[in-house]
Amino acid sequence: DIILGVLALQGAFKEHLEYFQKVIEGNPEQYSKYNFKFIEVRTPEELEQCDSLVIPGGESTSISLIAERTQMLQPLLDFVKDESKSVWGTCAGLIFLSKQLKNGKVGQKLLGALNVQVVRNAFGRQVNSFESHLDFSSFIKDCHDFPAVFIRAPVIDEILDQDNINNSINDPTITKSSNNYNNKSPVKVLYSLDNFDNNNNHLIVAVRQGRKLGTSFHPELATKDYRFHKWFIDEFVLGSDRYI
Ligand code: GLN
Repeated sequence: DIILGVLALQGAFKEHLEYFQKVIEGNPEQYSKYNFKFIEVRTPEELEQCDSLVIPGGESTSISLIAERTQMLQPLLDFVKDESKSVWGTCAGLIFLSKQLKNGKVGQKLLGALNVQVVRNAFGRQVNSFESHLDFSSFIKDCHDFPAVFIRAPVIDEILDQDNINNSINDPTITKSSNNYNNKSPVKVLYSLDNFDNNNNHLIVAVRQGRKLGTSFHPELATKDYRFHKWFIDEFVLGSDRYI
């Protein structure tokens, strides 16, 4: 069995499970030799069974708090350290997976598996929520028009220096992960919104680092479009190291 878990403490976990199921149902021949199981993850025992994990969107402060209260924080910190495990964070999940955070709440915890700095609610002033058709064909074959849904979304505003993660200046407005782990794979920017709002900016909204993936937007809310979930299964869950 290949067990793909979706962290079900809070947020949009049901949608992810449904989308993965659709990918398998829609491509029976391609996946007939695998026995996929998609499960909701709420306990350390459930997490332990997983080969891969998705951390959904929702509220990153709530997810962090509930993880602590349910004794899930340490198991999650350990899980993401394992380089053979694929982990994908969407929106609040991206925040939770990152090393550093601007606009974090006091006490908010970060898993520290992606060497990036994230800013919460980065589109807050301009637009809270919007959908944009984005060209992902540089990393997903023929995917030229993916309907990306952004809901009070974060962006990545800095890729952190691989070797100097823990030496960066001590800025009290920045929340840092306590995970004593440094993902050694290179951070690869998959997509950035350039010139958003006619500002000369580059808002990074999708990155991968080894088998860890982070997206600001919600592919599980792209109406009947399962391409992103299929790509995650093919590239991360089944993918071999040659892609990394
Ligand atoms: N703004 C939320 C947070 O900071 C994320 C929103 C989302 O996941 N759609 O956690």
